[in-house]
Amino acid sequence: MSAARYSRRVVADDWLRLASDPAWPICVQIVVEGTALPDRTALAAAVGVAAEACPGARLTRHGHRWVDTGRTPEVRELDGDAFDRETLTGLPALYRPLAGDRGGPTCEVVVLTGARPALVFRAHHAVMDAQGLLTFARAVFQALRGETPETAADDLDAVELLRRAGTGPRKTIPQNSQPPLRAAGPPEQRRPAFLRRTVDGRPSAVTAKIAHALARCAGGDLDVSVTVDLRRHVPEARTTASLSYALSLPVRADDTWRDVQQRMLESLAVRDELRETPPLPVIRMLGALPAPVTRALYRGIDARFGQGKAYAGFQVSHLGRLDLADFGGGGFTAETIYSLPTWGVCMIPMVTLVETGARTEIVLCGDDTHTALARRFLDTIGDALAPPEAVLRGRDTSPEVYLVPRFAEVVTTSPDRVALSESGREVTYAELLGLAGGVARQLTDRGIGRGDLVGVVAERSVAGAAALLGVLMAGAAYLPLDPGDPDERLRGILDDAGVRVLLAPRPHDQRPLGCATVVLDDVPPAAATPAAVTGEDLAYVIYTSGTSGEPKGVEVTHRNLAAYLGFALQEYEVDSATCFPLFTSLAFDLAVTTLLPLLAGGRVVLVPEAPNHVNLERVLTGSGVTALKITPSHLDLFHRLGISPSGIRLAVVGGEALTGSLAAIARELFGPDCRIVNEYGPTEATVGCVVHTYDPAADTGATVPIGRPAGTTSVHLLDDQGAHVAAGETGEIHLAGEQVARGYRGRPDRSFTQLADGTRVYRTGDLARRLPSGELECLGRADAQLKILGHRVEPAEIEHALARHPAVERAVVIARGQVLHAYLTASAEVSEKDLAAHAAEVLPPYAVPVSFVVLEEFPRTANGKVDLRALPGPSPVAAAVGDPVDEVLAAVLGIWARTLGLPAGTIAADSDFHRLGGTSIDLLAMIAAVDRELPGVALADHLAAIVAAPTPATVADLVPDPQR
Ligand code: AMP
Repeated sequence: MSAARYSRRVVADDWLRLASDPAWPICVQIVVEGTALPDRTALAAAVGVAAEACPGARLTRHGHRWVDTGRTPEVRELDGDAFDRETLTGLPALYRPLAGDRGGPTCEVVVLTGARPALVFRAHHAVMDAQGLLTFARAVFQALRGETPETAADDLDAVELLRRAGTGPRKTIPQNSQPPLRAAGPPEQRRPAFLRRTVDGRPSAVTAKIAHALARCAGGDLDVSVTVDLRRHVPEARTTASLSYALSLPVRADDTWRDVQQRMLESLAVRDELRETPPLPVIRMLGALPAPVTRALYRGIDARFGQGKAYAGFQVSHLGRLDLADFGGGGFTAETIYSLPTWGVCMIPMVTLVETGARTEIVLCGDDTHTALARRFLDTIGDALAPPEAVLRGRDTSPEVYLVPRFAEVVTTSPDRVALSESGREVTYAELLGLAGGVARQLTDRGIGRGDLVGVVAERSVAGAAALLGVLMAGAAYLPLDPGDPDERLRGILDDAGVRVLLAPRPHDQRPLGCATVVLDDVPPAAATPAAVTGEDLAYVIYTSGTSGEPKGVEVTHRNLAAYLGFALQEYEVDSATCFPLFTSLAFDLAVTTLLPLLAGGRVVLVPEAPNHVNLERVLTGSGVTALKITPSHLDLFHRLGISPSGIRLAVVGGEALTGSLAAIARELFGPDCRIVNEYGPTEATVGCVVHTYDPAADTGATVPIGRPAGTTSVHLLDDQGAHVAAGETGEIHLAGEQVARGYRGRPDRSFTQLADGTRVYRTGDLARRLPSGELECLGRADAQLKILGHRVEPAEIEHALARHPAVERAVVIARGQVLHAYLTASAEVSEKDLAAHAAEVLPPYAVPVSFVVLEEFPRTANGKVDLRALPGPSPVAAAVGDPVDEVLAAVLGIWARTLGLPAGTIAADSDFHRLGGTSIDLLAMIAAVDRELPGVALADHLAAIVAAPTPATVADLVPDPQR
């Protein structure tokens, strides 16, 4: 053992702390909870190495000096399962007194074993303060990680620190109100009562908010002492000594937390904590008193506390923002850290707080005779830091509806009702069950069942609907694929998802998708008994755009789906008279709503072809459709195609923001008897989970509110530090409840996370605020995600896809309106045509940019990022004017100019519709206008040709001869 090297004076503050009740010496205690405890021998060795670097951990008192014993602090082991993590009781052995001045240990490390392992660092407060103990704890973990711990071996003490810092004139310490938690009675009859609360994120101005909340709960003025680490005045000091003082912060009953915050900052700015310490001579005098005299003095003062005569209040000690990574090593990963308030003779109730990772830990310590009151204080703090208004809960009144059993029930009760209509063909429930049974049989024969995922090239056809049902009947989950997506993308998705079997109709069965394929057209109907599944089994996986550059598969379980179906059937009053058309891709979960009638004896009208003005008019006016699930872009389309739907009683609009003007158009289109619902929800929370019925009288803002959570869903609005926002403030929507999906297939993602109370949430990236009406208003995205005509698009995914072209160095994609434009730097000559062809090979059609601009280099902002606003406009379109044109072409050019809002004469015969800024909706509107205005023309039948070469010349060529 080395000779004692380190020593420092015992100063007055140390004496005061040593004068505490011997049965409960004032201890600083920090709990680091985590996983997988380190090997005990390694831990003991690390404690030794850390104590060498921080010899304050090995001190004992010899007369008027603290001296280094050279002994490594003890490492004890206790059964952590006995420790209640809220009241911090159940483990009296944890709180073993640390002797301070009686030759025993002044510092130790306790290992809590069990289900929630933890390391507890303990030190007598006369020797260390919380910052000192944190320094030591960090050193232990550094040693565990094999790093050299930072040393903290200065012999600076509080007296010397005050001398160096200069104390300044004294301020009067305000006197005040009742001691809120201090019971009468001698110290030996009292024990501390700890209560712990964890709140989400890192609330701003947390100390001021806590001080304010305490005063509110105390019912009047309150003096709060804020612990200040004096090291701030000597930043070069490296010591674990007790160097924290209290800053007195009077809080008045009518203060707001902002007043308190301002007062605290002003006080800190003028270093008030230094003025409030006793003057140096007094400190010296106190330090010279024999310990029994100091103890008697303090017991006398303590007795006055009990009668409410002396000043009392709360102490708030904020240990700061800790990086959990600093507290891991030797296999141990820290998950959270909290600190137990000090307690003892003459001490007022105290609150400690620690910000760690995604949460803030608060521990309140009062007297064990006042636990109910302590809980009230803590609840008030909790409400101040996590305002209850930031949480909106669904009504949760609807039962879960499991798809296959419910469908089977409907088949039993109404076998002959029509389930599906497709171009004049009608399929009854019994027939649909037979078709689905056939698919299930094919899969079962191939050994596919529970736990498997089956790809389905999902056309909007009877076979497509039967395929989805059949997969579920087999107990497997389906992965719907849009037939319009390029092979490479579909192959990538199937590979990523680990799909072994694909169901595809002809001719898609011939596509090189790398999977064994069952040709749907060849599957005969069959009877099949639905396989048993649990709520935790997967129902479907839907791929959506991913920020990492690859699409990611959202895994939706039967329970997730049952929760959506339960609320949606009830909320939308779906019954046997309900008829939805299906004209959107089954590869998006929007279509799930459309299939609701199949669970209620209603009917689904299938629109197999791409929607255009002819088939939409037919379906929306003459097919008995009563309800719709659409995006706002569809509303715009109907309006621009001049369609006048009839008989629609319900329009569920979702997928993107519903503007007030589109909602008004919807009302115009569908009439006053139609209920228009704004349904919000990402694929990750199963179709939709927040709903609002449009009210033209009340919803007069620019966007229609998204309303309130439905079913089991609750919405938490959190700020960018993860803390719950105050009433009316903007926060990011975090969704909780049964609809929150299992996660992304094969890739853990931090968007699926947990709140401090263990609630599982999905972080949406959508910003919203709670309106005074209690409804939610969506305020756009917190990130770069876009919606292009209802399709979710991550620019990063397109950029990665473009960068896979061998000539492309880097790509940046932006949206202008609803049109995507790509900007690139290239390592070799590359044409726009090449780039467009590459994009079409790897991206879904809606994600293919309409223009590709190759740049020498990207314009940059001052801090080096690509300056999106400085990107040039797309290269000019082909010059047009002056070419001789025939009458038909002239008419087409006129319609194009009108549809695109461009001046007449700026469009050439070979101009590309999309390069001119036209969206696919504009294209359909243009086609409808040509059909309407040029008699005998039916461009809607030639959509593919127009999409392939969207120029006025193509359109004019499709106009039949007699027109020319
Ligand atoms: P998706 O997963 O494709 O359904 O896209 C989900 C995203 O679409 C959400 O995170 C929102 O950004 C947006 N979204 C969906 N419904 C609405 C709505 N009713 N109002 C505003 N945005 C919406």
